[in-house]
Amino acid sequence: MSRIAYVNGQYLPHLDASVHIEDRGFQFADGVYEVCEVRHLQLLDVTRHLDRLERSLRELAIQMPMERRCIPLIMREIVTRNRVINGLVYMQANRGVYPRNHLFPPKSVKPSLVITAKHTNRAAAEEMAACGIGVISVPENRWDRVDIKSVSLLPNVLAKQKALEAGAGEAWFIDVDGFVTEGSSTNAWIVSKDGVLVTRPAESGILRGITRTRVIDMAAGMGYSIEERAFTIEEAKAAREAFVTAASSVVLPVVEIDGATVANGHPGETATRLRALFFDSSEKLPC
Ligand code: PMP
Repeated sequence: MSRIAYVNGQYLPHLDASVHIEDRGFQFADGVYEVCEVRHLQLLDVTRHLDRLERSLRELAIQMPMERRCIPLIMREIVTRNRVINGLVYMQANRGVYPRNHLFPPKSVKPSLVITAKHTNRAAAEEMAACGIGVISVPENRWDRVDIKSVSLLPNVLAKQKALEAGAGEAWFIDVDGFVTEGSSTNAWIVSKDGVLVTRPAESGILRGITRTRVIDMAAGMGYSIEERAFTIEEAKAAREAFVTAASSVVLPVVEIDGATVANGHPGETATRLRALFFDSSEKLPC
């Protein structure tokens, strides 16, 4: 089946879907993005993803590309047209098309909006979660506005590739004080020896993940203690459990850190439980 993409007002066959060479996303990475999970034909946590999209755009002084209420209509349409049952919706909004110049284009230039959808293999994802992944640590080398979901992801790309080449599934950035900030495309968590869920506060050094917020809400409702504080890689290696969260991977157990086994080297009970209950506790928009 051919895939369809939404590009600046048009639904186009994936093969023909392209942006102009003067698009500021292409020229300067001058834009932001969101990734939203589709599960059983339902979009998860759209309200929070759109809240974050609006915030990211506001922080960069980019206008919303269209009225907020119209975006879910396109998201649903793109899911339907691509016959996605389980997958991901990607959207990028950027400062639009204008002759290359570092300065912002005039206000009359319309922001660009691209929305795509792809299938994911749920069985393969569950298999990966049942094994858990390894992570490696890398020095934090990103700018200090990682709270903005910018498409400028070069350090993240390099870190993820380094993880792959080391036989791991994710790279955790370590700040100058030796604390884990987050993964290249995930938030980082541990479960301490006494069963407390620990994740870095969203106020500094991380993206406020929608999955992270959902897991905090869910875990609190289940009676877990949660501490939003920074932790070191040594603390993580000695933890009862470690895991990562993201819309694209939900809750994914970490079983190895820099080659050292976490606990018994198998996915932990807490991460497994949170993963299993995640769908039920998410906001759902039927497609
Ligand atoms: N941190 C980074 C750097 C990310 O790229 C992502 C995923 N886009 C996350 C955290 C997790 O965010 P979310 O749960 O909203 O997918």
